[in-house]
Amino acid sequence: MSDLLKELYQEIILDHGNTPRNFGKCEPFNKSADGHNPLCGDKVHLTLLVDDQNIIKDIKFTGEGCAISIASTSLMTQNLKGKSLEYANNLFQDFSNLVTGSSDELQIITEEDSLYSLKGVGAFPMRVKCATLSWHAFKSAIDEK
Ligand code: ZN
Repeated sequence: MSDLLKELYQEIILDHGNTPRNFGKCEPFNKSADGHNPLCGDKVHLTLLVDDQNIIKDIKFTGEGCAISIASTSLMTQNLKGKSLEYANNLFQDFSNLVTGSSDELQIITEEDSLYSLKGVGAFPMRVKCATLSWHAFKSAIDEK
């Protein structure tokens, strides 16, 4: 990976860590979940509004944590808003593969995607939990009956 690309990825993480997108609470919402990563102290509360066509009309979060967890959550909400749950499930799988190093099998995420900036956490197992916390919260929010 080129130094320029590395710098770009770091900028994306810093930007989203400092200025998270979709921070707050959906009003109204019909799905929600909490995530907690005790290893780092990251906490996230997700709210979603999913319509009867299974489209994510709105997704927001509150919480606190390290820059990686906040940036990852911010990027997640940006990438899921307006998308179908089917797409979201595929992206969840892709993101899991990205940060656990199985990125040869990526279906959706490319190097040009902002989400790709989190690939680097794969080298730090503790950080993988920070990066995937909100994604697992998202999964439990949409899987709940
Ligand atoms: Zn963390």
